[in-house]
Amino acid sequence: MKYALVTGGSRGIGRAVCVKLAQMGYRIIINYVNNTAEAEKTLELVRQTGQDGEMLKFDVSDYRETRDAIESWESAHTEEYIEVLVNNAGIRRDNVMAFMPEEDWSRVLDITLDGFYNVTQPLLQPMLVHKFGRIINMASVSGLKGMPGQTNYSAAKGGIIAATKALAQEVARKNVTANVIAPGFIKTDMVEGLDEEILKKTIPAQRFGTPEEVAEAVGFLVSPNAGYITGNVISINGGLYT
Ligand code: NAP
Repeated sequence: MKYALVTGGSRGIGRAVCVKLAQMGYRIIINYVNNTAEAEKTLELVRQTGQDGEMLKFDVSDYRETRDAIESWESAHTEEYIEVLVNNAGIRRDNVMAFMPEEDWSRVLDITLDGFYNVTQPLLQPMLVHKFGRIINMASVSGLKGMPGQTNYSAAKGGIIAATKALAQEVARKNVTANVIAPGFIKTDMVEGLDEEILKKTIPAQRFGTPEEVAEAVGFLVSPNAGYITGNVISINGGLYT
């Protein structure tokens, strides 16, 4: 049995990734932090593919909670390991720097950067031992270009891109790849409240993307055919920033 863990798998891009990886034959571990009802919906969609899955609730920014959840999973699966990790959990708390509260700065960085460390570090060892692993980190166009009103989010996503490039070089020899996906505007709860009619005029493709379009790229990076691709950033943004 092959296992994939998707953080923030309860909604949006994470949900589409769970379904895609289930279609590829993975048993899915759906992480989430609050929304049990939505995580259950994802689990149902995973099961509709003919695969099974399970829900694993923890806050990726909380070191102890994350460790405990991963260790309890590992002690229930002593013969298996998680070979695919998609670090997808994320939030945005937008504000111009002049008015940004410390809490909004810290929360966005904690979930993205501490979250990356807290989940990836314990799962890396088994990937190295088994000489196979796929790590995909969800960044953003903001982490490449920098977006006004998003210094916190841009810093977090830029940091995750740099961390991925460093990690990729550490583990390539062991057949473990680490890559980044940098979406533009994707139709999920995260973009609720943004004016799609105005924003889509700024996108060469003239539309927002779908979670499924992002999930397809994750599927490719996970596939055996992508084994020589590591330390890369794939933009999925309709031409918004190239
Ligand atoms: P979303 O619909 O708002 O879903 C966010 C997911 O993250 C939910 O499953 C949520 O769980 C989970 N989550 C939030 N905080 C968490 C925490 N502390 N621990 C564990 N899980 C947590 O967001 P999305 O649009 O799908 O975004 C997914 C990723 O893509 C994020 O990293 C985001 O920054 C990135 N991204 C999105 C866009 C876009 O336009 N949508 C563009 C670029 C990048 P609950 O359901 O339990 O709250």
